[in-house]
Amino acid sequence: MIFRARTVITNAGAPIEDGAVVIAGNRILAVGAFSEISTAHEGEMIDLGEQVLMPGLVNAHCHLDYTMMRRSINPQRSFTEWIIRINALKRSLDKDDYRAAIAKGFAELKQWGTTTVANIESFPELLPDMPAPPIRTWWFFEMIDVRHRLAGEETIAGMLDFFELHPGWLGGFGLSPHAPYTASGTLYELTSAAAEKMAMPVTTHVAESREEWDMFRHGRGELLGFMQKLGRWMFDKQIERTPLAHVAAHARLGPKWLLAHMNELDESDFALLAAMPQPPSVVHCPGSHRYFRHRAFPLAKLRSAGVNICLGTDSLASTLTLSMFDEMRILARQEPSLHPEEILKMATLNGALALGIDAGKITPGALADLIALPLTANEREVHAAVLENREPITWMMLNGEILSQ
Ligand SMILES: [Zn+2]
Repeated sequence: MIFRARTVITNAGAPIEDGAVVIAGNRILAVGAFSEISTAHEGEMIDLGEQVLMPGLVNAHCHLDYTMMRRSINPQRSFTEWIIRINALKRSLDKDDYRAAIAKGFAELKQWGTTTVANIESFPELLPDMPAPPIRTWWFFEMIDVRHRLAGEETIAGMLDFFELHPGWLGGFGLSPHAPYTASGTLYELTSAAAEKMAMPVTTHVAESREEWDMFRHGRGELLGFMQKLGRWMFDKQIERTPLAHVAAHARLGPKWLLAHMNELDESDFALLAAMPQPPSVVHCPGSHRYFRHRAFPLAKLRSAGVNICLGTDSLASTLTLSMFDEMRILARQEPSLHPEEILKMATLNGALALGIDAGKITPGALADLIALPLTANEREVHAAVLENREPITWMMLNGEILSQ
């Protein structure tokens, strides 16, 4: 099948005016000017008209479990107080609430053009009765061992069996030790080894707040006090290193790792990342960052260290929507010197790279995950126009199939 559109954004070279994309099965076969594509390829032609055809959006950090929490927690005095509030809310919800939240979250992601999501799942026991996800989904099994809830190899093997039994599910499975303050060094070590053995991606929250920095770097502060009250084994507080150095001491960080947030870093952290032959990816969540009023995200320094930076929404407990268009606009305001084309790549190609999938671009061989959106005639610059989109996406292709919205 051939799809023509006024402009095609490929993420590999300049946008193509009056462009066309050829799809064969679930892959892109060819892309180019419509005049060339239509003479070189046969097949049904669908004209998308005055629209931009582009790769679907990739949300690299999301917690669908908390979709019911929009506007339920006002910004708190401290990060620790926010944790106390969300934990109380979590206790008031049951399995049916979480199932409904996940379905609602998927609908919102799809409505705003997201074709792939990295979802951190706090309740993997919900998966067996869950319907197939409507978009490509990576389920990251969240692990916390403050109270000794350690994931054994058996649990991990069970999850892998589950995916073998569900071959129709697009995406995959990964591991997610929650954060250095809730996951022990031992848990990071086990995760690192299991993920390498099973070639799985790993995601974790690192260096998100100043309180986390104070807990690890200085062995003090509100988060430390709170975690000690919960009974966290605090031998590591005496080591006094940065949160990133702490994680790096217990895990073999590499390209299959997605580190969320990374707001609190020092020069030694940038040097550590720059020295890695293949550094991990970093996920920035602009809306959540704004909500918590964290210090400026060190985007330029991370890029200089060779880090792949992608974008995520985080959960609705700390941002207002699951629209990656909103996230891109917030980032554009936070980083006015960033070109809209780079922001769009962070929301597509870079997320796909982090998850190790051949997507986020329109090139021969890539997965056919695409969206189309109307282009207003007077828009000068197509990438900036895409960032300004405020309408739900009405045309989406996932794995070569057109989805109804
Ligand atoms: Zn998160």
